Amino acid sequence: MAGTQSTRPADFPERTEVAIIGAGIAGCATAYFLAKAGVPVVVLEKGRIAGEQSSRNWGWVRKQGRDPRELPAIIESLKIWPTLEQEIEADIGWKQAGVTYVATTQAQMARFEEWLGFAKPYQLDSRLLSPKETDEMLGTSGERTLGALHTPSDGRAEPAKVVPAIAKAIERMGGRIIEGCAVRTLDIEAGRVTGVVTEHGRIAASSVLCAAGAWSALFNRNLGITLPQLRVRSSVLRTRPAPLVTESATWCGTFAFRRRQDGGYTIAGDGGSTFEIVPDAFRFFRPFFNALKMSRKDLRIRISGEFFRQLAMPKRWGPDDVTPFERTRVLDPDPDAAELAKALAAARATLPGFVDLQMEESWAGMIDVTPDVIPVLCAVDQPKGYFIATGFSGHGFGLGPGAGLLMSELIMKGEARVDLSAFRLGRFFDGTRMTPYAPI
Ligand SMILES: Cc1cc2nc3c(=O)[nH]c(=O)nc-3n(C[C@H](O)[C@H](O)[C@H](O)COP(=O)(O)OP(=O)(O)OC[C@H]3O[C@@H](n4cnc5c(N)ncnc54)[C@H](O)[C@@H]3O)c2cc1C
Repeated sequence: MAGTQSTRPADFPERTEVAIIGAGIAGCATAYFLAKAGVPVVVLEKGRIAGEQSSRNWGWVRKQGRDPRELPAIIESLKIWPTLEQEIEADIGWKQAGVTYVATTQAQMARFEEWLGFAKPYQLDSRLLSPKETDEMLGTSGERTLGALHTPSDGRAEPAKVVPAIAKAIERMGGRIIEGCAVRTLDIEAGRVTGVVTEHGRIAASSVLCAAGAWSALFNRNLGITLPQLRVRSSVLRTRPAPLVTESATWCGTFAFRRRQDGGYTIAGDGGSTFEIVPDAFRFFRPFFNALKMSRKDLRIRISGEFFRQLAMPKRWGPDDVTPFERTRVLDPDPDAAELAKALAAARATLPGFVDLQMEESWAGMIDVTPDVIPVLCAVDQPKGYFIATGFSGHGFGLGPGAGLLMSELIMKGEARVDLSAFRLGRFFDGTRMTPYAPI
């Protein structure tokens, strides 16, 4: 469906209560809780359901190591995950088998202890493992580890299954999801949103949520709303079925792995991602300065044809113009083969149970990142009735159901059960210091 014209569905709706832009986990989880509350909702997706980040991620669902500002929201999310399969009547590969970060340096152990301090008020089950306990978990023998941070109540799910299953549940409750339908812009009257303009025509709506993932900055720029957001490319591989080492999703310094439902593992490199320099990098240099400084070790910075592709991309358009969203139905970047070969070699060399691991498939995703590496979850001041849920900065899969619940409350009642002020859009412009948090 790359950059093709799509056909207008015969029963294209003329109106709804809430229109949602983007059928990733943020858009679909919000639609799910709205539909459950009886609110008419239509989700509009330029490509296919969860075609971008939400099906390409590692599948980790974790409180562990979260930015302290995200803890109340992820705690709400982890109340939803354990019963989601029953609620939506589908197998999504949920397993509450913990998350573990292994330390190979004293500095990492100190960071883990510091994070436990941030988590203390929430009485989580996170704790430090001794080197012996870590070895027992990983089947290793001594010398390498200094211990680990472990949270038994964290979990994992199959990214390819979760959002399509939520989408089916939305439809069973009377909500609509329309694939191959890009939203071009908003309809606005007297400072209030009155609907969306799509490639197939207008849909009137009282509220609109932008959950457009890595496209949110571009969509909002056309409306005159600045959203500092950049994209980084992150590569992943999956292996053939292999013996069980541990059920816990585990970060080992040079690689990270998660047991898959098919008996293989999802594996990625040391958390490092590739940032291709694009025109927005210059536009947003100031707000991103701290994030870039902090991740200079992990981030491979490159210049490629993407710079000129984005330079040539239209930044402004009207409701009748074909937009960049119709030209790229699904963002499908090439994985970094060298980075993945390194990760696989590290996995084979580190864990005795992984010596014979064989790669089956690889892929990449474009992660949308904000300057402080936490999302934007808010109502926009102008136009009224417009909401944003985006910028999950590489950890929105686990947060997705919680973010959906909180956004549905914000849209329906004007407030959510968790204080969302840390996630307001205005923080980028009111002098708030952009301090990203990294636990490892
Ligand atoms: C390799 C990788 C590993 C990751 N690992 C983890 C992990 O283990 N745990 C974790 O919690 N998170 C992880 N993440 C992050 C997580 O996947 C994302 O934060 C989350 O999926 C973001 O969801 P979203 O709904 O905001 O965006 P997306 O899933 O990207 O969805 C946005 C959707 O909006 C659509 N769209 C955009 N513009 C328009 C438009 N104008 N009209 C219509 N549709 C539009 C897009 O086509 C897309 O489908 C990882 C991400 C990657 C790439």
